[in-house]
Amino acid sequence: MNDKQDNSRGVQPQGAPSGNANPVATGLVTMVIRGGCKVRSGGQTLDCVVRNASKPDSWQSIAVGDEVEFSKAGGGACVLKSVRPRRNALSKTDPEHPGSERAIAANIDLAVLVVSMAEPPLKVRLIDRFLVAARVGGVKPVLCVNKIDLLSDDDSSPELAEVRSYEDLGVPIILCSTVTGRGIDRLAAIMRGKRSVLVGQSGVGKTSLINSINKGLRLPTAPLRRDGSKGRFTTSHTALVEPEPSMEIIDTPGLKDFGVREMRAEELQEYFPDFRVPATKCAYADCTHTSEPDCGVKLAVRDELIRRSRYESYLKLLGATAGEAVGSPRRGDKSRGSSRRADEVDEGPFKCAKCGTYVVPEDAGTEHRNHCPNCLYSLHLDNKPGDRAAYCGGLMEPIAVWVRHGGEWALIHRCQECGALSSNRTAADDNEIMLLSVAVRPLASPPFPLERLNDLRRRDG
Ligand code: GDP
Ligand code: ZN
Repeated sequence: MNDKQDNSRGVQPQGAPSGNANPVATGLVTMVIRGGCKVRSGGQTLDCVVRNASKPDSWQSIAVGDEVEFSKAGGGACVLKSVRPRRNALSKTDPEHPGSERAIAANIDLAVLVVSMAEPPLKVRLIDRFLVAARVGGVKPVLCVNKIDLLSDDDSSPELAEVRSYEDLGVPIILCSTVTGRGIDRLAAIMRGKRSVLVGQSGVGKTSLINSINKGLRLPTAPLRRDGSKGRFTTSHTALVEPEPSMEIIDTPGLKDFGVREMRAEELQEYFPDFRVPATKCAYADCTHTSEPDCGVKLAVRDELIRRSRYESYLKLLGATAGEAVGSPRRGDKSRGSSRRADEVDEGPFKCAKCGTYVVPEDAGTEHRNHCPNCLYSLHLDNKPGDRAAYCGGLMEPIAVWVRHGGEWALIHRCQECGALSSNRTAADDNEIMLLSVAVRPLASPPFPLERLNDLRRRDG
């Protein structure tokens, strides 16, 4: 574009003088394309270009649903002038620039996350991230569970129960199938008279749902590639469609994940309303529900009042900044605190938080010691063995012995704070009496009288 004006975003802020005699019109962005967008105005759809289109930022900051002002230049070309302030937006972080957010859609009444129970499998983490993004953006969320025909008839699968539990958070759930037609009327009813955005993984059936609302539309859909290859996305652009005159739906390409900007615990907790009541029992008013003792949220997770996957989503969203916020050392951080810490376990001697035994890992047992050889208690420091990525830090009680393949013994530990389970190989210097007492514990309270074994033996000869 031959343009002398220096406007780095290409689009002038609202209210800036247009600076030429061309009349300014307003319209609604229905699709963002390279270097510009399609704008609906006065019953027509026009292609608008932005100034400085060579800078991707100039057009990538526009979102479908934006209200814009543009001028009609000579030869029928339209040039974008400004984007009006947004009422709200559903945004996600840009995978190439994780620090910055990009609006998926703007000025919307509903954000509908479409998930499927199978093909592709359900990703609960995506639901939690979507709900945070919707609440951050000020958009009402809805959960649409599609391909319900792939489940058994009675809706009793545990996965479905997990999805349905989001109803307790006030999120409407609609079970749908574009094959049987179930739920399509309800979905249409909830979107009628509104502008909604449909988001979700590729292949969950977003486009099929729109086609089911208006069978005449026949937008292209794609069979899921079962070989794991990515294939071509049928919906390559975010675009606004109108299956009915009073129903605007913004269809989006498949999401792999829903990037949410990093937040500090205080802000993030606002978006986890299910933590609010349990958090009143936290010992510290500013509890981050990570490494603090006497945390009501961790107790509620242990007692299954908060689903573990919700808590894990919270921890994941808290991300690296949480480690700094709560002073919890990451792997490789050699700092020593007075509290029980990850690096005290496998990087040097440590004092057992349960029985006070001073443990020197190099002396005996295995190199990677996870529990005290005296009382066999451990600490909840790992999410996966050795990753030192758990925020909990709770005491883990030895609850059972698991005889692994080859006859090797492993201890099963259960976190007393959050209820997480883990298995840890036993070591040569483990207290044998303690080990045996854990191993035989079920025999102390059998679910049937042990004498019955004698009767059975006598009977069988
Ligand atoms: P999108 O990427 O989310 O827009 O998904 P599509 O609408 O392109 O659908 C992906 C595939 O899933 C297609 O093969 C559809 O026929 C199929 N599909 C869509 N809805 C359903 C449904 O309710 N049940 C079943 N079994 N398959 C569906
Ligand atoms: Zn807490």
